[in-house]
Amino acid sequence: MPKKVCSFCGRSEKDVNFLITGMNGFICDSCAQQAYQIVLEAGFGPEGTRKNSGAFDVSLNDVPKPTEIKEYLDEYIIGQDDAKKYLSVAVYNHYKRLQQHTNDAEDDGVEIEKSNIIMVGSTGTGKTLLARTIAKLLKVPFTIVDATVFTEAGYVGEDVESILSRLLQVADYNVEAAQRGIVFIDEIDKIARKADNPSITRDVSGEGVQQGLLKLLEGTMVNVPPKGGRKHPDQDYIHVDTRNILFICGGAFDGIERKIAQRLNTHVVGFNSVQNVRSIDKGNLMKYILPQDLKSFGLIPEIIGRLPVLTYLNPLDREALRRILVEPKNSIIKQYTKLFEMDGIKLEFAPDTFDFIVDKAVEYKLGARGLRSIVESIVMDAMFEAPTKNIDNFTVTLEYAKAQLEKSNLQ
Ligand code: ADP
Repeated sequence: MPKKVCSFCGRSEKDVNFLITGMNGFICDSCAQQAYQIVLEAGFGPEGTRKNSGAFDVSLNDVPKPTEIKEYLDEYIIGQDDAKKYLSVAVYNHYKRLQQHTNDAEDDGVEIEKSNIIMVGSTGTGKTLLARTIAKLLKVPFTIVDATVFTEAGYVGEDVESILSRLLQVADYNVEAAQRGIVFIDEIDKIARKADNPSITRDVSGEGVQQGLLKLLEGTMVNVPPKGGRKHPDQDYIHVDTRNILFICGGAFDGIERKIAQRLNTHVVGFNSVQNVRSIDKGNLMKYILPQDLKSFGLIPEIIGRLPVLTYLNPLDREALRRILVEPKNSIIKQYTKLFEMDGIKLEFAPDTFDFIVDKAVEYKLGARGLRSIVESIVMDAMFEAPTKNIDNFTVTLEYAKAQLEKSNLQ
């Protein structure tokens, strides 16, 4: 064993409060404290987790590559390969842009512009799930907001600026960090102008809100009220620059398939058209979506121009639903199995119950969201009774599943 002195400061045992013994050396209490301070300053919390504030300066080497991001998404989300690919690239490029602003010395005049994204897909196909999952991987502040809460300034509801208050909150009011964050705006389709509503009064949740949003997307200085709103008129606003904030928008755009079909129909008349018509996948028109369809739906062209990356999500068929039920890392079945496991009970499902659950989800038109409520109704009684029953396994058979679902009010 080496001599009993601190291997960091060299002080001997009698000069310090105490020495902690390591494999090949010692550390004194004061060096240990200093080391802890360094760890905190590097942005790591007590459990080695990165804290929100001041921890968002990352080099490109620390960031997962697009293929790695997609692999991670694959663990949680079934299918939707195109959307995953677009998102992975967009997020990775976002980091590159952030690098560009920290490396101004190497300025070569080429400025990478922001590529905000818009994802279009029916409700319950995984848009929010994608956003949430990617958020877990990110090292920049990230927030999800719902566009339906926005109304024009002066009306009841929130101003678009409130997006930035949320981002500031997640960034622990570190303005620098918030300015490099990512915002997911859900239900962007709800602020589309309603073409069939030629109201003379102002369109409360339509074009006005889009104009407000446009400013944020374009990049502007926004005055955000401080924590908890402005309590005094003379209290200063926080100035947030949105130039480097990446916006990801998602929306169901109900009925947009009709617009796509119309466009495809008008385009396929004429020479060369026969072949085009034949190759169109009528079951999934969403994959032919183009920016002009968003315009026909009621988004203003300026907004569309600021969302240059357009991607889509596929509708979920039976096969996809069945996979969603069992495959993802935290699939519904795995979650319920774990709940039972905590009581020491092995929960099992007969394989044909999965098909039954999927059939019901399709029948009730509930999509992936319905899977959970169906499984919940099936195992409700078991969850109620099992913990006091002293059993070590429980199997859900097809008959049991059918009977339980019949009893429930889901139907
Ligand atoms: P959206 O935002 O498109 O309306 P969500 O992402 O909220 O839909 O999806 C609702 C739920 O359905 C999710 O929480 C998830 O459990 C499930 N789900 C939907 N699509 C998928 C998918 N592709 N893979 C795994 N689970 C999915």
